[in-house]
Amino acid sequence: MQNNFMDIEMLEDRLRYWQAQLRLQDWQIEMKFDRGFNLAPNVADISLLEESRVARIRMMEANDFDPSSIAPYDMEQTMVHELLHIHFFPLTRTLGKSIPEEQAIEAISWALIALDRKADEIENHYMKRLYPEACYLLEPYKGVVVNESAADD
Ligand SMILES: [Zn+2]
Repeated sequence: MQNNFMDIEMLEDRLRYWQAQLRLQDWQIEMKFDRGFNLAPNVADISLLEESRVARIRMMEANDFDPSSIAPYDMEQTMVHELLHIHFFPLTRTLGKSIPEEQAIEAISWALIALDRKADEIENHYMKRLYPEACYLLEPYKGVVVNESAADD
């Protein structure tokens, strides 16, 4: 596991993707960076208004991450973790902050991220075999548009 830092545009792109995957499109979710000292001891948090389905995720700026930390700071995983809180909140709101909930969300978010990246790796592997001349297109970002008819050959 290693750090995965993104800029706000990339994070917002991944936010739309994960909102769809987690069926949270009916939520209005805002994402912003904040300083580490405003979030300590965490690297992120989420505030939500259930009735109006509005949420705000605050993520620690990459510059404030302590490089000696034993846990990596993967911004995409952190965002998925915060999004999962939206699903868990109705089940656990009366408990307040709960360690079992945090552990469950942490495990699920890492599993989702690992599966998603594995799927991308497999897709890229076959894309490179089908279109070796277009390999350079695959490297910079994920949302590669494939010519469907050519891919079916
Ligand atoms: Zn949490």
